[in-house]
Amino acid sequence: MNDLVDQNPQKLIRLLQVVAIISTCLILGASILGTHWLYRGYVEKVSREDAIRISELIIAVEDRFLLPADNLMQSTLLLDDAALTELDQRMNQFLSPHGVLKVKVFSLNGIVLYSTDHSIIGQSNHGNPDLMQALSGNASSKLQTKESFQDMSSETRFDVDVVETYVPIINPAGQIVGCFEIYQDTTPFRDEVIKGVVMSVGVLALVLAVVFSIAYGFLRTAVRRLLQAQERLHYLAIRDSLTGLFNRREIALQGAKEFDRYRRQSVGAEYAPFSVMMIDIDNFKAINDTYGHVAGDQVLRLVAQYLSEEMRSYSLVGRYGGEEFIVVLPGGGTDDANAVAERICEGIAERSLKCDVCETQVTISVGTSVVNDEDKTFEDTVHRADRALYLAKAQGRNQVVVS
Ligand code: GH3
Ligand code: MG
Ligand code: MG
Repeated sequence: MNDLVDQNPQKLIRLLQVVAIISTCLILGASILGTHWLYRGYVEKVSREDAIRISELIIAVEDRFLLPADNLMQSTLLLDDAALTELDQRMNQFLSPHGVLKVKVFSLNGIVLYSTDHSIIGQSNHGNPDLMQALSGNASSKLQTKESFQDMSSETRFDVDVVETYVPIINPAGQIVGCFEIYQDTTPFRDEVIKGVVMSVGVLALVLAVVFSIAYGFLRTAVRRLLQAQERLHYLAIRDSLTGLFNRREIALQGAKEFDRYRRQSVGAEYAPFSVMMIDIDNFKAINDTYGHVAGDQVLRLVAQYLSEEMRSYSLVGRYGGEEFIVVLPGGGTDDANAVAERICEGIAERSLKCDVCETQVTISVGTSVVNDEDKTFEDTVHRADRALYLAKAQGRNQVVVS
């Protein structure tokens, strides 16, 4: 993570954007499932309570069938067709307004004793876990979506939500004697459920959007400041504070790269030698002594500015130390370096340098060198330029000497 921030804080922002998008999707996905599950549970609970009430009413009305004296509930099986039809009609009349689609009555051993669908009377449903649970005294309900469902009046309904509830039948003596299976139509709640899910997820999405936007805003400001600080630090690390030229370390780094490039290219057909100029202001001490160090600094800045302006944009201009400057001219041969050196040597001498307390002129001495195959490092090329500069000084200053 540190590397990421160090190399490019923008990458961190992009990473956080991805994390925010993924986590938003996960949170919203989980909340859709969660709220849907909650609503579903609520519909099941309400339907179960309804089914229990309905089953109590059925028992109250149909107790002679459902709670016979022998407690075996077998008597319903003995109903003839006419009695069964009458029972169907009563059930239909009583249950339809409650949204009940189908009713089954099971014996203790899981046999269907009565159903509004006569074809399944007598079938065994033993082993059904929900039925077994109800027969042991606990009501249970389950919401299901059915592609088609036949209701009590044998009408087929399509795409219906049905809550299937098993309710134990308990006789006055408190014994479980069988169980109801009641199917309730909860399709009308479907829209309510969808509305509830959309509302709660919508609110959550809004909250997440606000929170992430605020966090993103803070982060972007922080990253922008970090980038500015990084740029500033980088500038300070490679520039000389007085003149704004490259500092000696940066020149050494860039020069070494130039040297490597030259080495790689010289293996092939094309040579792209670079040259180095070492420049020293003549008798600079006298300027300090005459006008003071502040004026000396201003003169140094003016000379640096002149050198920058005179060099091509791809030349590397640096302050080597004190009143010494260095220029690396990429791709220039001896003639090129000499021409540039002569030009700046004459140019600076003719120039009037204005500082706050002085208006003066300076001359410079320049030593130049062009990289050659005997140089092992960039420093070797610099060293030869430095020796040439020394010669220029020895020969009377204000002149160019080629290594
Ligand atoms: P030469 O022609 O032999 O180069 O003579 P010179 O006086 O230029 O050389 P010398 O090495 O004797 O003196 C260099 C002077 O440059 C001494 C030092 O005070 C001054 N100097 C070095 N760095 C700075 C600086 O940052 N600001 C100011 N004002 N003066 C500086
Ligand atoms: Mg000097
Ligand atoms: Mg010097």
